[in-house]
Amino acid sequence: MPRLLIAAVLVFGLGLHADIVTCTCDVTRPETMEARQCGLCREAEKQPAGVKIFFLKDANPSKPNRWLALPRSHERSIELLSDERRADLLAAAVEKAKALFGDEWAIAYNAPSVQTQCHIHLHIGKLIPGVETNQFITATKIEDIPAPPKGEGFWIHPQGNLFHVHTGEQVTETVIER
Ligand SMILES: [Zn+2]
Ligand SMILES: [Zn+2]
Repeated sequence: MPRLLIAAVLVFGLGLHADIVTCTCDVTRPETMEARQCGLCREAEKQPAGVKIFFLKDANPSKPNRWLALPRSHERSIELLSDERRADLLAAAVEKAKALFGDEWAIAYNAPSVQTQCHIHLHIGKLIPGVETNQFITATKIEDIPAPPKGEGFWIHPQGNLFHVHTGEQVTETVIER
């Protein structure tokens, strides 16, 4: 299926009315944490207190080759992280992605409006061949990768010694193999 069509199906499948899930996950009130959209918050709470970043294998059986990188602390979206914490999260995700997929890795962050979870998560997987677009910026090091523009996601893959940071999309995880 062409990628844009997949993206459309994903957006409609999630329901456009569901733009921005209601996030009332509150670790001090356990009853709020039972909500479906707090699932990754619950996973974060299972991590030891000293952990800053952790990884999960994607729980969706239809995405057997996917991993997620997440901060231990609870924030709704990546632009809320400081530059330093964003770089730490991306660096950890890149290291994991390289270990899993060599030079064929990609990292994808969906726009908050199409997410179904209330906790920051980066998708890690293998870049699908042929998805390249011309809407990207080039970063020479991880610290130079900016937060995605407001309301957008981004996807990142290596290009030689550089990084391509692709912007202008909301559903981005469709560039990586399931
Ligand atoms: Zn959370
Ligand atoms: Zn690219």
